[in-house]
Amino acid sequence: MPFRIYLGSSDGTPDTTIAPPLCWTVDSAGAYLVVNEAAAVFFGQSAEALRGTSWLERVHPSDRDSCRAALARAGETGLAVQVEHRLRGGDGGYRWVLSTATPAPSGARSIATTCFDITPVHEAVERLKIFSLAAEQSPVSIVITNAAGEIEYVNPKFTATTGYSRDEVMGKNPRVLKSGEMPIEGYRDMWAELAAGREWRGEFHNRRKDGTLFWESAVISPVRDSEGKITHYFAVKEDITENKRLSAMMADAQRKAQVAQRAKNEFLNNMSHELRTPMNGILGMAYLLRDAPNDPERETYLRVLSESTEALLAFMSQLLDLASLSEGTTVLHVAPFDLAHCTSHAAGLFAAAAFEKGITIETQIDAEVPSIVAGDSLRLGQVLANLIGNAVKFSSTGKITVKVVPDPSFAVSGSSAGLRFSVQDEGIGIATDKLDIIFEPFERADTSSSRKFGGAGVGLAIARRLVEAMGGRIWAVSRPGHGSTFYFTAQFQTL
Ligand code: ADP
Repeated sequence: MPFRIYLGSSDGTPDTTIAPPLCWTVDSAGAYLVVNEAAAVFFGQSAEALRGTSWLERVHPSDRDSCRAALARAGETGLAVQVEHRLRGGDGGYRWVLSTATPAPSGARSIATTCFDITPVHEAVERLKIFSLAAEQSPVSIVITNAAGEIEYVNPKFTATTGYSRDEVMGKNPRVLKSGEMPIEGYRDMWAELAAGREWRGEFHNRRKDGTLFWESAVISPVRDSEGKITHYFAVKEDITENKRLSAMMADAQRKAQVAQRAKNEFLNNMSHELRTPMNGILGMAYLLRDAPNDPERETYLRVLSESTEALLAFMSQLLDLASLSEGTTVLHVAPFDLAHCTSHAAGLFAAAAFEKGITIETQIDAEVPSIVAGDSLRLGQVLANLIGNAVKFSSTGKITVKVVPDPSFAVSGSSAGLRFSVQDEGIGIATDKLDIIFEPFERADTSSSRKFGGAGVGLAIARRLVEAMGGRIWAVSRPGHGSTFYFTAQFQTL
């Protein structure tokens, strides 16, 4: 019966090649005695010509030692040995062969050898070795599952990325990595595509063994056998967590840049309004004054003229103040002052405006608050004036309460006092999502109402920088339609 060796061809289909074995006997010195027809064809010489020539001389130089040793072992033990080596054919090229050498019964001192040409098998194995090394050393994760979705292979990159060892995931479904962060339909679509024999590309938000989340970009393709049946799924996945983080950062930076640009445009519009209004007042009044007869109207014109000039001056100094504070050039001028006096002075600045609207301003200073402290009374007064001024501006009725209490969050020390100030009103209130941004320069809670109330959105930004310079922080609590309370803390020296 002819020998039939099944060799795997490169496309995975079995290749049936009849390979007649090469047979010969050699004497104890390794010289050919008898060779079969197949061997004579292989060596390209007749059996007679081969007789007496060296067997080893036709073996590849690199394989000679192992062949010599195998032959010696066969001679010593009297047992058959098998060795894989290269053999030179008549065309001068080498073929891989599997030789089985069987010593003749004792006394005969010859060895019979049967040799199969295994070159195609050898090449296939070498190819597989390369595939295997490439998969093992791949910089991306590789997962192979069977048709039921059970893992049969993962490469080292997979274990490094997920924290799961090979043994821990073998036979399991890749859903061991599922984080619950992805919509279930995503998986359903993926399996539908794969089951239909199509490739699937997408992203997974997965969970590592240590519980941390990571993003993977994946390409999964079905693997089919020679009959077209899907036997496996082959997944190549790359950790894209860092890319995701960077693109989120870039999107955030872009969003912030857009917000800043919008704020800048708003500011420019607003500034032009804030400058033009008092300018028009000044010009108009000057024009009227020039023509007005000497009568009581002149007094009204002069009042409007000075009010407009004051408004312009106040706005310009606010802008200059913000610019100098932004550069961190604020120096606090520390000197002893009367807290109650500073607070009521700030409230007093708005007494007339409040009175006109029917709003009362009340100041309450806790008994525990020292009456004289050392600090920058002008800067403190400026912050209080900004908050009280806003409270009056954004209220049409009700009461404004200004309070000063000791602040428990400051470390207690004999020589310093941490105080908390609050300004509470019953005005229009502020939407929750604006409570933080109003402390940014040129930001207003409601740009549509700003025309009505005036202001360029600079005051709170200045207040925040001043409060920080005084070792404290500023924040607001509010609900639209239910008034606002602005808080700030600051640290002073006690005397
Ligand atoms: P502005 O000059 O616009 O008042 P601020 O920086 O002082 O500038 O205030 C920023 C924004 O915060 C205001 O435009 C307003 O939308 C909001 N705001 C400040 N104080 C109050 C308040 N007491 N009640 C309601 N909204 C306020």
